[in-house]
Amino acid sequence: MSRLHLRRNGPVMRLILLGSPGSGKGTQAKLLSDRLGLVHFGTGDILREAMRKGLPAGKLAEPYVNQGKLVPDALVNEMVNSRFHSDDRPQCFVMDGYPRTLAQAESFDEVLHQYGLDLDAVLFVQVDDESIVRRLGGRWSCPRCKATYHKINCPPRSEGMCDNHPDKPTALIQRTDDREDTVRERLRHYHANTVDLIPYYRNKGLLREVNGDRDVEQVYDQIVQAVSGGANAKC
Ligand code: AMP
Repeated sequence: MSRLHLRRNGPVMRLILLGSPGSGKGTQAKLLSDRLGLVHFGTGDILREAMRKGLPAGKLAEPYVNQGKLVPDALVNEMVNSRFHSDDRPQCFVMDGYPRTLAQAESFDEVLHQYGLDLDAVLFVQVDDESIVRRLGGRWSCPRCKATYHKINCPPRSEGMCDNHPDKPTALIQRTDDREDTVRERLRHYHANTVDLIPYYRNKGLLREVNGDRDVEQVYDQIVQAVSGGANAKC
């Protein structure tokens, strides 16, 4: 566990994590959620769930997700807006994978403004592209329990099989969008779009840069340090 802590039930935290696919922002969002009680809002997870359940949004998103392309802004904005317009809108949250385009950032600002929810920081988790290709290309997961493995960094005990089901041998699967050609396509779209987001949030004084090429706890420490200075003490 990290040496640095922010008090749970401490300052209200409203964070956005920016970073390429595979930069580890999902892992950090989960830690921030577990340790600080922030609502983890991952648009990629929500879209994959909608696809798995065959929901209309999932059917619309599927061809884009499978080819590593961005889902149209209108669809993702609608998904996020409907949650923020609902009575159980999150007060403290960490956005993981949204916004990804300038149009999404502007739409998100509008909805946050409507409910008086100010952002505390936008964390830009930086990892170079070749490390990303290596990281994602080796990523496998269990379709049964969602445990994730990595061919090199975190291999399963028995090649290709999940460790958690000795009684029901379960073969690990690779996300279709984690194949190398698709990863490169995702990175291309990511750079083309994020290029606008960085100055957008920097101009608002919200951007904090984090070196994502460190182990998970070190990246977490950098995030905590970066937000400790800027958090709004609202409750
Ligand atoms: P992720 O798990 O965040 O890498 O997202 C997986 C895929 O979901 C992306 O490659 C896109 O196809 C889609 N996606 C997730 N979030 C967004 C977003 N904010 N805007 C557009 N597409 C998205």
